[in-house]
Amino acid sequence: MLFDFHTHTTLSDGVLLPMELIRRAIVNSYRALGISDHVSASTMARVIKEVSADCELARKHWGFVALVGVELTHVPPDSIPQLAAEAKALGAQYVVVHGESPVEPVSPGTNLAACQCSDVDLLAHPGLITIEAAEAAAENEIFLELTARQGHCLGNGLVAKVAQQAGAAMLVNTDAHEPGDLLTQDLAVTVAAGAGLNEQQMEQVLIENPRKLLARAGIKL
Ligand SMILES: [Zn+2]
Ligand SMILES: [Zn+2]
Repeated sequence: MLFDFHTHTTLSDGVLLPMELIRRAIVNSYRALGISDHVSASTMARVIKEVSADCELARKHWGFVALVGVELTHVPPDSIPQLAAEAKALGAQYVVVHGESPVEPVSPGTNLAACQCSDVDLLAHPGLITIEAAEAAAENEIFLELTARQGHCLGNGLVAKVAQQAGAAMLVNTDAHEPGDLLTQDLAVTVAAGAGLNEQQMEQVLIENPRKLLARAGIKL
């Protein structure tokens, strides 16, 4: 049973149309897919509208759960509350913030600002996350990401440790930009086990936490 809430399409820097990404996810035995293209103030309204059209087609014709998300990317930390609220008002079913990955010059303070914002659902690749940010994530029920993405994944071990100390919930996502990046069962388990999770924690992170995020969007799986 595979879930993935961090993926990209031609609407930002991915290579597939939302429709083809959804099709590929179905073929990979995904149970649900979230599409979270990079957005900022400039592109948010257009991207949400366009992703929604393909997600709706997949729901209607294939009965597949494709969720409309956004990834607020390289935005000033202080602007996160306003942009996250705006994304939800425009129809985003969940909001991802592009966290302070060890391999990109993300504005310092992004992790904390995201974790303090109750309109944010997922902090992607948080890198060298602090306990203060993880505690805020726990309080606001924001998921912290263990990522399958090369480079971003350098922080996974620390993210898992600090998230558990703070009582914050985690999700495994791919940050897929190409079809070959999508999850297989083996890859999902490798990312979780590689971050040091035991069997029980893996069940929580790979199955139960995705269900919680879906429930928040009104979807029961
Ligand atoms: Zn990207
Ligand atoms: Zn991303």
